Amino acid sequence: MQYHVDGDLVPAESATVNVRDRGFQYGDAAFETMRAYGGSIFELDAHLDRLAATCDELSLDHGLADGDLRERIDETHAANDLADAYVKLSITRGIQPGTLTAQPDVDPTVVVIVKPLPRGGVGSTPVWDDHAVVQTTKTRKPAANALPPGAKTHNYLNGILARNELVDGSDEALLRDGDGFVAEGAASNLFFVTDSGLHTPTADLPLLPGITRSAVVDLAREESIPVLQGRYEPSEVREADEVFLTNTTWELRPVATVDGIDVGGGPVTTLLQRRFDALVERRHYGGERLSPGETA
Ligand code: PMP
Repeated sequence: MQYHVDGDLVPAESATVNVRDRGFQYGDAAFETMRAYGGSIFELDAHLDRLAATCDELSLDHGLADGDLRERIDETHAANDLADAYVKLSITRGIQPGTLTAQPDVDPTVVVIVKPLPRGGVGSTPVWDDHAVVQTTKTRKPAANALPPGAKTHNYLNGILARNELVDGSDEALLRDGDGFVAEGAASNLFFVTDSGLHTPTADLPLLPGITRSAVVDLAREESIPVLQGRYEPSEVREADEVFLTNTTWELRPVATVDGIDVGGGPVTTLLQRRFDALVERRHYGGERLSPGETA
């Protein structure tokens, strides 16, 4: 595997970053996790926009044009001959004189790493059947005025602390805001289905506005499924008819249980998984599959 480090392609085993880099020292870095299908990145423009928004929040003026970032992604892709891949782009504030206080002059460290991520997921269980076991955690989301939730930085300690709490086969944390309303997973957005429609926590809560979340909201609207964004208690999630999580690598991942209560997938989750898969097929492979799992 070849990674892209500061403008050069280097073998993954010898790809390194200086120990004084602020990305390592303080988590002072912006990143995006993206997914390539058939050689091109799903919603690349949205990822680059979110990266720019993160850099704005950090006052990290890296001076690189979007075209330059696209080129580095393309070069990494080409060097690895990977059509379907996980792609992570990070920009750190690099090395600076002094300690915590950020300096305006930035010589950024720019890294692109990739790994194979076949469509349909890794392993024997197809991604659309790989049910998550979710647990509400004591760890809460920091308030927006403490850490901007829309900024995707190398500081993932909040999610790590939440995941550290997981017990008994749970594999995703459900984090609440300071008032107890459910916000999101450690690395995913939350959706649930009731008689009144498809619900997801409002982006007024401290959560990362996921690119998959946004695609799913659009697909639901196209299917005339009412989409409601609000403030919900964990009990409302546990009592829902269906619950699923979204992120770039999971796409739409059904949830088996929340805090030990069966929720499971269902017809709305399946329909939206199919619509998402068809969207990927149309945009990246030039066709349309009828349902997940059909590879024809
Ligand atoms: N919330 C958090 C905290 C995340 O880390 C992620 C993964 N990037 C998401 C939500 C989902 O975002 P996306 O759909 O853009 O991957």
